[in-house]
Amino acid sequence: MRGSAATQPSDPSIDSGLLSMQGVTCRYPGRNGEAALDALDLLVRSGEFVSVLGQSGSGKTTMLRVIAGFERVQAGEVQVSGRVVSSATRHIPPEERRVGLVFQDYALFPHLTVEQNVLFGLKWVNQGERSAAVRPIVEMTGLAGLAGRYVHELSGGQQQRVALARSLATRPVALLLDEPFSNLDRQLRASLRREVRTIVKASATTAILVTHDREEALAIADRVAVMGRGKILQIDTPEAIYSMPATPEVARMVGPTDTLPGTIAGNLVETEAGRFRFRAPAGGVTDGQRVDVVLRAHELEFGPGADGSDMRVAYREFRGEFTQYGIILPSGVTVRVRRRSLAPVMDGTRVRITAPFDRPVLVYPSSPAV
Ligand code: ADP
Ligand code: MG
Repeated sequence: MRGSAATQPSDPSIDSGLLSMQGVTCRYPGRNGEAALDALDLLVRSGEFVSVLGQSGSGKTTMLRVIAGFERVQAGEVQVSGRVVSSATRHIPPEERRVGLVFQDYALFPHLTVEQNVLFGLKWVNQGERSAAVRPIVEMTGLAGLAGRYVHELSGGQQQRVALARSLATRPVALLLDEPFSNLDRQLRASLRREVRTIVKASATTAILVTHDREEALAIADRVAVMGRGKILQIDTPEAIYSMPATPEVARMVGPTDTLPGTIAGNLVETEAGRFRFRAPAGGVTDGQRVDVVLRAHELEFGPGADGSDMRVAYREFRGEFTQYGIILPSGVTVRVRRRSLAPVMDGTRVRITAPFDRPVLVYPSSPAV
């Protein structure tokens, strides 16, 4: 199935990709052998917008720096447009890769104007043609009225657009964006990410955006690659990853979860919180198998508990669009459940947790005890 942990598409009809990484390992010196990228595989098709979601330290920046040619690899191969640009024995310099990297902190020249910043990447274009070359990009990025302004006179969102325009002006075959919205406030991030997607798609540029923000990763991309410990753990459409994460780790990355031990009993899974219908990743699970049950607060409901029920409301947080309840189980573990209803259920109320018919819970074979 598509939601498996495989990182290479199995469909033979798709091209080898505009950008591919195969078994790429990158180590920084002096980190006692631990690799920042550990035999990483990734394939990005021409024109695709891929987001890479990973926690801090998972290797996102290293991956982009490897693609751009700022770090060398010890094993594996990086190809851009079918050409090997990095391997253990080969290293094409960054300026010959036609890959644009937009940094987290924009790295603009504050003493230059918007237009001068955008022109910066075009030193090789003759003077007369430069303005003509940048004009469409300046317009596309909504900077037409600001061309003569100095960068320090711009807002964070405008600076980010300048950084994007400067990169696009070089007509890269692929654009790499390293947490481009992390310095902006939440509301601006949401509108800017829509803008960036529109601009990137309009310019037909292949793009990889890395972020630790799951909402951003899911919202902006055609496909999401979830990264952990220097590897791509799963790559698929946002909807496919969300509905069937390949592992509990991926599930935790794409949304808040609570995990309980359970046992498969026919078409239900038995847990301390109740018996639920379930869905399992490729490979499935067998009757009687012990599993980890991954619960999502908005995929659960609760109702009045029978007499003697030993689950109770431990706390309640009103969040406007929903109320989040903590339900405490006999073992002392708390499971979160979200409700739309405005009628509060008081702390201490005895309840019963259910999973609606169309939202079976996620189960994974238990990881062996270490
Ligand atoms: P992310 O961007 O996902 O936060 P990074 O690629 O920056 O992750 O880092 C991956 C790992 O490599 C981390 O453990 C980090 O400490 C290490 N690392 C990153 N840059 C260097 C460097 N220049 N020298 C040594 N170790 C580094
Ligand atoms: Mg980083």
